[in-house]
Amino acid sequence: MNAQEIIDIECKHTSGAYAKQPLVIVRGQGASLFDADGVEYLDCSSGHGVANLGHAHPKVAEAIYKQASTLITLFETFPNDKRAELMQKITSLVDGLDRVFLCNSGTEAVEAALKFSRISTGRKNVVAAMRAFHGRTFGSLSATFNKKYRDGFEPLVPGFSHVAYNNIEALDKAVTDESAAVILEVVQGEGGVYPANAEYIQAARRTCDERGALLIVDEIQTGFGRTGKMFAIQHFGVMPDLLTCAKSLAGGLPMGAVLIGKKIKNLTPGVHGSTFGGNPLACAAAVAALTAIEEEDLPGQAAAKGKYLMDKLKQIQSPYIREVRGMGLMVGIEMKQKVVPYIRELQDLHIIALNAGMTVIRLLPPLVITYKQLDHLVDVLAEVLTQKMDDGE
Ligand SMILES: *Cc1c(COP(=O)(O)O)cnc(C)c1O
Repeated sequence: MNAQEIIDIECKHTSGAYAKQPLVIVRGQGASLFDADGVEYLDCSSGHGVANLGHAHPKVAEAIYKQASTLITLFETFPNDKRAELMQKITSLVDGLDRVFLCNSGTEAVEAALKFSRISTGRKNVVAAMRAFHGRTFGSLSATFNKKYRDGFEPLVPGFSHVAYNNIEALDKAVTDESAAVILEVVQGEGGVYPANAEYIQAARRTCDERGALLIVDEIQTGFGRTGKMFAIQHFGVMPDLLTCAKSLAGGLPMGAVLIGKKIKNLTPGVHGSTFGGNPLACAAAVAALTAIEEEDLPGQAAAKGKYLMDKLKQIQSPYIREVRGMGLMVGIEMKQKVVPYIRELQDLHIIALNAGMTVIRLLPPLVITYKQLDHLVDVLAEVLTQKMDDGE
């Protein structure tokens, strides 16, 4: 099959839910992706933040191969060596969250956290933030703010409200003694790469404690080193009651998890479950991924490389850039015009970047990206972002 045939087949049979790019990717290595002709692209998307360890990491590949030929599936009622290893490892990454529910994606982790909040508190209401993105199934979609994701799917789950992000007063007003939980991203990803202030996250913790609500932190995009710490919340010395993670947890294999604090009650057999959750294959991949993240100090690498990249980006003089912001290797470049033409131009120059809303270019490179690759990225961005692009589509 040649590249055009592959594209034609996907365009013919796609659900229609994805805007297909005219680019077939067949292989990855580190921060590089390769098309069908062997042409190299610099991956600044990591599959939306999945490939923190880069593509084709040998330790993850080996763990998957070994476990696939040992045992792929086992329901969580039966204990398993790889699952036990993962449970021990993942709960050791952050203080005070000693239990874990394993599932298969980000949205499932959010669903579980929402259900746990209601069953634990006996309350219904959930306060989320404007611009928040928490997933696309009905519960997580109800916590997601943007109309673009919600329109056409109502009625959503009742009891959800949204308040301005980084606004302590607004949060304080919205959380009542009928609130089951507050759910927040530590850096809003999809919503435009907006980092939280330390004071805001600390105030959210206090408000939740005062009103008896639980604090859910959604670290699906910010987790596992992305922002310069294992979890972004660790920048602020705050402990959530529930922490959702997924994306890079299992080195690219589908997996999600909710880390659970002491205050969560009523999690008894049968209260929730997942057929694939905690399967030994994903657990083995996750153990290998988390071990590699620690051994290679990816949080430290993300902190250093993120600072290096941001410093260089801030030096680009362009009348079209409004702001550069971010945390670690989660970087947003807000433009004064629509970014789709810039992202298309970057792709023509073999750099794969993401947007976050209409006007933000989002960079989420694998944390193993090299300094040479970062320099190349900055050179290309300096060339592209200083041009005025026609955004008439
Ligand atoms: C990607 C993402 C999700 C949803 O994860 P899926 O695996 O796509 O369901 C939820 N919350 C945040 C913050 C995300 O970045």
